[in-house]
Amino acid sequence: MRQAFLGLGSNVGDRLRNLRFAVHSLEEASVVVETASHVYLTEPLGYTSQDPFLNAVLEVSTELAPLDLLELCQRIEDRAGRERTVRWGPRTLDIDILLYEDTEASAKYLTIPHPRMLERRFVLEPLSELADELPDRTTIDRALAECPDTSSVEVAGTLVALGDIREVPLAFIGTGKVGSAMAGDLRERGFTVDAVYDADGDRCTEVASAVGARAAKSEADAAGAATVVFVTTQDSHIRSACERASGTGGDMLLKTFVHMSGSLSLESMDAARRKGALLASIHPVQTFADSVSAARDLPGSTFSMTGSAGARAFAMGLVEELAGRPVPLADEDKALYHSAAVIAGNLTNMLIGAAAEIYRGIGFEERQAVEAALPLARTTLSNIEKLGAAEALTGPLARGDLSTLEANLEALDATFPEAAAAYRAVSLLGLRLVIERGAVDDATILAMKALLEGGAGAEVEGAP
Ligand code: ADP
Ligand code: MG
Repeated sequence: MRQAFLGLGSNVGDRLRNLRFAVHSLEEASVVVETASHVYLTEPLGYTSQDPFLNAVLEVSTELAPLDLLELCQRIEDRAGRERTVRWGPRTLDIDILLYEDTEASAKYLTIPHPRMLERRFVLEPLSELADELPDRTTIDRALAECPDTSSVEVAGTLVALGDIREVPLAFIGTGKVGSAMAGDLRERGFTVDAVYDADGDRCTEVASAVGARAAKSEADAAGAATVVFVTTQDSHIRSACERASGTGGDMLLKTFVHMSGSLSLESMDAARRKGALLASIHPVQTFADSVSAARDLPGSTFSMTGSAGARAFAMGLVEELAGRPVPLADEDKALYHSAAVIAGNLTNMLIGAAAEIYRGIGFEERQAVEAALPLARTTLSNIEKLGAAEALTGPLARGDLSTLEANLEALDATFPEAAAAYRAVSLLGLRLVIERGAVDDATILAMKALLEGGAGAEVEGAP
């Protein structure tokens, strides 16, 4: 794949829609739009008695050679209804190749870098968001400082929407814990929640009136007037809800769909993407037991974010408005990301459950068992917070105490084989932390490893 930067411009018709048409058409032609700048409002240059432009720059990956890419860009310009009458005159869509790898070349129909880019602030400003240098190693900042163009070039919004982010009409499909907390919080912060939809009609009316929104009759009805559609159903319903929402009404080229699932990739909303919608996902790294704690803990959370190029800047802005900490994530890493949350949260829970079961097995009351396990877990967590996981580690592994380790395993093998297997598996993983701490010598680490790998009843071979 080759890397290129494309400059987009439009000053006729629905300008934002024209830019979105360009993004969608490029992607349909297998040009991957990796990142997008903000959208800028700019004064026309050259032939000045025309309307202001919207401009943006895209970073793309493509298999196409430069001339084929140019041909594609021109075909997309034509499909957008561009008429080539006045040179540098009004146009529904202009797509220029600004940079293509480190190529510097000039031919009849194509010059790279784009011959006029250094004289155009509306190219350099958005490009400076995405790139640092030109092929001749001049920095973009330097090029901007030397740019003779003094016309006004200002951020107007993102490819998701122009203007104040609070005025962007939002819809929520699915009003569970996270959806209703999110809708309520955004509304309190002055955002515009246009509609909510829930398959449970009573729930739908209740949440709609709580957030001052319209109770929609269907997914498509909710999405109809919205620019940004949150699909906050259970994970298993996201795909079908998104299909129904993108089935009828509304111009999908002007919509963005956002889900808040921790484990699903953006592919789950492919129905909307195919019709031109941008996609994003924001996921609070939190567990919410109920609506009250969700509403309390959602703002200020860490949010992981994935999104198609045009939607990332918007999602970032949204999370910042929620006083959250955005952490960008690649869509293909979503499952791995979720597995970490399961290990940190759910597996800890299961291990504490197993510890309590062992206590009960040796005569502790239910209550006593939990009371015995919890302080250990709490102290561990607060030590990890203070010292990090490696330094906070205590116990036989951390001490290199082979005989205790062996005694633990022998006891568990005899009474609770599943816990013995978990003990072995987790400890093998934990040897990394033991090594990181550096307090146990190599021979002992190897002996512990052999013991842990040995399975039930294995002898410690080669232990010192
Ligand atoms: P501009 O984009 O400069 O406002 P046009 O879109 O009308 O003007 O383009 C005029 C011609 O510029 C096109 O027909 C194309 O062959 C040529 N051209 C040369 N280099 C490039 C480039 N890097 N990207 C796009 N067009 C280019
Ligand atoms: Mg052009």
